[in-house]
Amino acid sequence: MALLEILKYPNPVLRKKTTAITDFDDGLKKLVADMAETMYAAPGVGLAAPQIGVSQQLVVIDITEDKNQLLVLINPEIINGEGSQIDEEGCLSVVDLSAKVKRFDKIKVQAKNLDGADIEFEAEEWFARVIQHELDHLKGILFIDHLSSLKRALYKKKRKKQLKDEAEQKVVPGDK
Ligand code: ZN
Repeated sequence: MALLEILKYPNPVLRKKTTAITDFDDGLKKLVADMAETMYAAPGVGLAAPQIGVSQQLVVIDITEDKNQLLVLINPEIINGEGSQIDEEGCLSVVDLSAKVKRFDKIKVQAKNLDGADIEFEAEEWFARVIQHELDHLKGILFIDHLSSLKRALYKKKRKKQLKDEAEQKVVPGDK
């Protein structure tokens, strides 16, 4: 297994459309194992393939405290959404920001598991929130897209400055 690099906003790969997975082979199993390891190490409760530079419809999720119930969703789709909830959200790809986001309170999900079998289940509350967040990634949507344009613009500006500061710090004196 290997730790993968998590891409950060504004990396354009985070905005790319993803394709459905058709081969449920050893390559996919290895990718899932690496994604799970990367998610647990971050630490995070979910990771979508675009976040590690793979534009395919795959997410891994584990919201348990003991980190022992890995959920792998392949080609997932929300087929029903009910009610609404508003709560704080963050993202491994959107550094230094958390904000309140409105989501469905209860959802029904269809997907394939790692063996290629069809699965269908319902999720509520925080679990439903995590799934909606991760599935957004597969459409190139980030949680900041759910915020007001003002909040988004402020974050964009802050991030730009942050990246500029980081780039300047990397310049060794006399290295120009
Ligand atoms: Zn995210």
